Amino acid sequence: MLFKEVIGHEELKRKFTGMLHSGKFPHAVMLTGPTGNGGLPLALAIAQYLQCENRNENDACGECASCIKCTKFIHPDVYFTFPVVTSEKKKSPPVSADSVKEWRAALSENPYLNYNDWMQTINAENKQGNITADECRQIIQHLSLKTFESAYKVQIIWLAEFLGNEGNILLKLIEEPPANTVFILIVENVEFVLNTILSRTQQVKINPIEEDALAAALMKDAPIDIAAAKRIARIADGNFDTAMRIAAGEENLNDRLLHKWLVNCFNLKLKPSGGTAQTLSEWIEDIAKAGRENQKIFLKYALFFLRECSLISIAGESGKLDGEELKFAKGLSAKLNVEQLETLSKIFNNMYYHVERNANPKILFMSNSFKIASVFSNEYVESANA
Ligand SMILES: [Zn+2]
Repeated sequence: MLFKEVIGHEELKRKFTGMLHSGKFPHAVMLTGPTGNGGLPLALAIAQYLQCENRNENDACGECASCIKCTKFIHPDVYFTFPVVTSEKKKSPPVSADSVKEWRAALSENPYLNYNDWMQTINAENKQGNITADECRQIIQHLSLKTFESAYKVQIIWLAEFLGNEGNILLKLIEEPPANTVFILIVENVEFVLNTILSRTQQVKINPIEEDALAAALMKDAPIDIAAAKRIARIADGNFDTAMRIAAGEENLNDRLLHKWLVNCFNLKLKPSGGTAQTLSEWIEDIAKAGRENQKIFLKYALFFLRECSLISIAGESGKLDGEELKFAKGLSAKLNVEQLETLSKIFNNMYYHVERNANPKILFMSNSFKIASVFSNEYVESANA
């Protein structure tokens, strides 16, 4: 991948190419942030830049033999490590090489992919991905060999938090790697990385992609206009992967879903009839079936929407909503005061946290429906174990 193909992050790209060009790039970096912000694409661009035979100060050439191999993710001096799962076929602990074909296909399709997509690609079902001790020993072995074709060896570890304690096997290597070896660790949840690894790498936070750059990228892939693209970029918090999902059609659905849910919650207190309970439980069935990623997108949308409602309450208008959404937001901010809107945001944030941690969706959405109902009736009491 070329730097110019990485969406946004212009300042960071300049910083990276500056360090790479002058030979001052650190031997171990950790790129941290949501996968959809672009940590892996940046790592791919760094690797290709280092391997390119004709690079200039801004980018790799994209045409030399090394670049072509990097583009296909088959350069012999660029190693990929990523979480894998045990399979029926193989009895010994899995290593990344077992799934390298799927990995290359997944990267060609979308280098902004997330962990769940990857697990689906390798048919992990309910198994948890892992980077095994055997994989760590493979890394040590690879990096002890001479380079095959170029001056540099690049080891990319995608989602290095899955190393867990096995990370200790790599400590010495990361601290004192062989000459011309670059480690790039991509991490979404820094809190799961061993301190000993953290202290041996230079951490670089990958911020959300800038709104304009993300909107422009979206318009290349989805038939939407600039206003819609910008709106999606904002709702997606600068995450390309999330933005693509919203652009693919879930966005209007989320507006409708939220409207329906809040009306149902409101009716729970006002008209606690069998009909309300019935529509609510149908709604919960639907959202439970939608899957974890879509539940996260829905909750993000809800948080965005509540922020806009607060703005309407405080400043009298929202710059980001229009049509039906705006009508709904105005109605809601007339009904709820700013504290109540804030309480709802807290509830949604908390739900997001639990969805990420695999909470049972039916129980989660049901119990929170009652919490939301009590916010509407001003009877909500915050409990310690929310
Ligand atoms: Zn090149």
